[in-house]
Amino acid sequence: MSMPENQCPHSDMHFNVHHQAFHDSNLHYLEITGKCKICGKQAEFRGMPIGLSPGQPTMAADGLEVRIPWFGEDEEPIGPMISALVGQVVS
Ligand SMILES: [Zn+2]
Repeated sequence: MSMPENQCPHSDMHFNVHHQAFHDSNLHYLEITGKCKICGKQAEFRGMPIGLSPGQPTMAADGLEVRIPWFGEDEEPIGPMISALVGQVVS
C-alpha cells in the first residue's frame, strides 16, 4: 500500500534521541531526528538558529536534526563550550 507523499498523515513517526557528551566539559547535547514509518519522510524542524550552542536549542542547516544542550541540575558550565552558530559571531 502506498499513498502520495503529500497525503501521508505521518501518524507513525519514529523519533530518535542521541546523547552527545564532550570531553573536558559538563556540556551535553540531545540530538533529535524523526522519520515517518509510513512514507519515509524525515521530520523537518523549524524556528531555531542553525548550528550548535550551549546556550540554546539549535538545528542542522537542513532542519532535520535538533540539538538541545543540557547540564546537570544546578551545575555551572565547566570547560570549553563548543559553539558554532551560523551567521552569528560567537565568543
Ligand atoms: Zn508520512
